[in-house]
Amino acid sequence: MSDCIFCKIAEKSLPAKVIYEDDDCLAFEDINPQAPIHFLVIPKTHIETILDADPEIMGKMMGVAARIAEKKGVADDGFRTVINCGRYAGQTVDHLHIHVLGGRWFTWPPG
Ligand code: 5GP
Ligand code: ZN
Repeated sequence: MSDCIFCKIAEKSLPAKVIYEDDDCLAFEDINPQAPIHFLVIPKTHIETILDADPEIMGKMMGVAARIAEKKGVADDGFRTVINCGRYAGQTVDHLHIHVLGGRWFTWPPG
C-alpha cells in the first residue's frame, strides 16, 4: 500500500534498522522503544490487522519473533509479545506487527 509506512520499510523506500528478513517477514527496531529490547515483526505484504491474517503468516511471524528474542538474549529472563488490534488497543500503524519487548520487568495487566 503506497501510503503505509511499514510497506515502505518492507520495500526499503523508508529506512529502518532491519534485524531480519526472509521472503515473508521483516523484523526491525522500533523507532520509539518502550524497553531496552523493542523490535517489530511484520509481514512483507500489507495485512491490516490480525483479523485479516492467515495462520501460516502468523506462525511464521511468531517464529521469527522467538528466534530473534533468543538471539538478543532475552529468552531466559522472559519477554513480551504484543499485537495491538484496532483503536481500543491503540493500534497506530494499520499494517499488522508483533511488538517484541524485553530487557526489563513488565507489569500485568497492561495499561
Ligand atoms: P502500534 O501502536 O500500532 O501497535 O505500534 C506502532 C509502532 O510502530 C510504535 O511502537 C511506533 O514507535 C513504531 N513506529 C511508527 N513509525 C515507525 C517508523 O517509521 N519506523 C519504525 N522503526 N517504527 C515506527
Ligand atoms: Zn502496509
